[in-house]
Amino acid sequence: MAEYDENNIFAKILKGEIPCDKVYEDDYVLAFNDIAPLKPVHILVIPKGAYVSIDDFGTNASLEETQAFFAAIAKIVEQKGIAETGFRCIANTGADGGQEVPHFHMHILGGAPVGRMVAG
Ligand code: AMP
Repeated sequence: MAEYDENNIFAKILKGEIPCDKVYEDDYVLAFNDIAPLKPVHILVIPKGAYVSIDDFGTNASLEETQAFFAAIAKIVEQKGIAETGFRCIANTGADGGQEVPHFHMHILGGAPVGRMVAG
């Protein structure tokens, strides 16, 4: 598992060095609009803890962090009105997964049909 880079862009957002368009925040989680949205709703949900990827988070996060993360997703989709219409969560991971920012984040995409699961 890669080592956490304290200077990645989401770490800078968490430190307040770079602004974000905040959607949700609690003690463990921050969520903000993606800077280059691919759907009418495109939100990134990140843990405040320093985790590189979903597997790092799943291995090393506390129960409180894990519970808060998924509870935040549920609150956000309800708040954005896409719980009923549907949405997709994506956690790109590592090189083959196409992960660009090495701080675990879940994309929430919705507000329009998202299409097939992956491009062939
Ligand atoms: P991934 O390829 O899963 O690592 O996705 C990284 C996502 O972060 C991309 O969808 C980018 O558009 C988004 N992104 C990069 N910088 C920012 C930023 N400063 N604020 C919001 N979203 C960002």
